[in-house]
Amino acid sequence: MLLEQAGIITRTSRGPAAAVEVERAPRGSSKVDQAWKILSNQETKRAYDLQRRAQELKQSWPVDAHICLDDMDWDDGEQAYRYGCRCGGEFVIGKEETEEEEESVVCCDTCSLSIEVKMAA
Ligand SMILES: [Zn+2]
Repeated sequence: MLLEQAGIITRTSRGPAAAVEVERAPRGSSKVDQAWKILSNQETKRAYDLQRRAQELKQSWPVDAHICLDDMDWDDGEQAYRYGCRCGGEFVIGKEETEEEEESVVCCDTCSLSIEVKMAA
């Protein structure tokens, strides 16, 4: 009777505990593992996207127009040359840059277009 009780006690106290233990471990670790995989995939994808975008910019700069500095409007207040983009934005190039460079690629301040400006007419 005592042994039987002891056996039951041992079985009931050990059994479920062990079962929980076994059940918990793989479920928990697989969740963590899955989350980690998704996270690392997103990170990898983002890094890949950024790298690819940087490469595209380098390889084929989307130059919309080639103009001369004369075509641009001088802004006395900003000490910069301005040129209207077709999107309604503006290409702005500082006076210093026009003095240092023979030609320069200027990005629109609103869209992704850019123009190549030749300083010498
Ligand atoms: Zn634009």
